[in-house]
Amino acid sequence: MTPEQQAEIDDQRAQSHQTRRATVPGMEEHLYTAHPVLDHGFVRVIDYMGDDSAICQAARVSYGRGTKAVSNDEGLIRYLMRHWHSTPFEMCEIKLHVKLPVFVARQWIRHRTANVNEYSARYSILDREFYIPATDDLAAQSVVNNQGRGAALSGEEAQRVLDHLRHDSDRAYDHYEAMIAETAPDGTPQAGLARELARMNLPANIYTQWYWKVDLHNLFHFLRLRADPHAQMEIRVYAEKICEIVKDWVPLAYGAFEDYRLGGAQLSGKGIECVRRMVAGEDVTQETSGMSKGEWREFMGVVRNPA
Ligand SMILES: Cc1cc2nc3c(=O)[nH]c(=O)nc-3n(C[C@H](O)[C@H](O)[C@H](O)COP(=O)(O)OP(=O)(O)OC[C@H]3O[C@@H](n4cnc5c(N)ncnc54)[C@H](O)[C@@H]3O)c2cc1C
Repeated sequence: MTPEQQAEIDDQRAQSHQTRRATVPGMEEHLYTAHPVLDHGFVRVIDYMGDDSAICQAARVSYGRGTKAVSNDEGLIRYLMRHWHSTPFEMCEIKLHVKLPVFVARQWIRHRTANVNEYSARYSILDREFYIPATDDLAAQSVVNNQGRGAALSGEEAQRVLDHLRHDSDRAYDHYEAMIAETAPDGTPQAGLARELARMNLPANIYTQWYWKVDLHNLFHFLRLRADPHAQMEIRVYAEKICEIVKDWVPLAYGAFEDYRLGGAQLSGKGIECVRRMVAGEDVTQETSGMSKGEWREFMGVVRNPA
């Protein structure tokens, strides 16, 4: 964040307006503030619409604020979440400004049920900002999960990886600048390559930015997948930051989401049958469960007492 950008944010935060619309004190606190994520990224709330009551209002199709009793609202919201009655959650919307590495953006953009406007690298010059992982986050390919990382790299290997990342990022950016420059290295004038072409030389750890607007139902879907411990760490940290924000925005809905979706688990028909047999005292094994080894491992991950 440059001092000029911070001054713009401070200026916006200094202003306030009167409204008849529902506002949420926790979200008013978040408005416009950039919450840091990774080494150069951030998430900031640009706008929001609705609160917990808006979900209940829509569910009841009421004329006013509906019931005032928080316990009634909480019970209704939990019922809606439990029974996948999702459209009332779509009545709440949030608009975020996110700065993120391009390889994270490629995962994020797969969530199609949002509105996106990305920083134009055809029009503007990208900043020299690259994601370089912290040493502790450099890990080897996982041996149990083809789509994940395993033990941390150490010593000289970790240092070599960091050196490659820094060196390649810098070199690519130097060439990007040289290609768009209107002066050649020897000082003679040159045309300068179009920004829309020069950017193809930049690596996927460069930062991009976008405005991302999504309704609460689809945001929960995003968070369910991306705040999951199996999600790649670099997108998970964004999802976790957004979880904190959503908790301050719609605490009742977030509580239901945390309980039923983040903390809950889906069981197959075979899984439910196994639970019933276990409760009845049977010693069920993978061989007698009717499940594959992988299914059984995941099933035991859900029902086994971690202690
Ligand atoms: C752990 C993990 C690993 C992944 N690995 C890969 C991978 O290897 N390769 C890869 O390409 N992707 C991968 N993905 C991305 C994944 O397949 C989804 O594209 C992504 O999670 C977005 O989910 P979504 O489509 O449900 O979300 P959204 O696009 O937000 O859609 C939400 C819901 O709306 C409905 N919907 C939206 N658009 C349509 C449509 N056109 N037709 C029908 N229904 C629609 C669906 O019900 C969908 O679930 C991975 C995701 C995760 C979480």
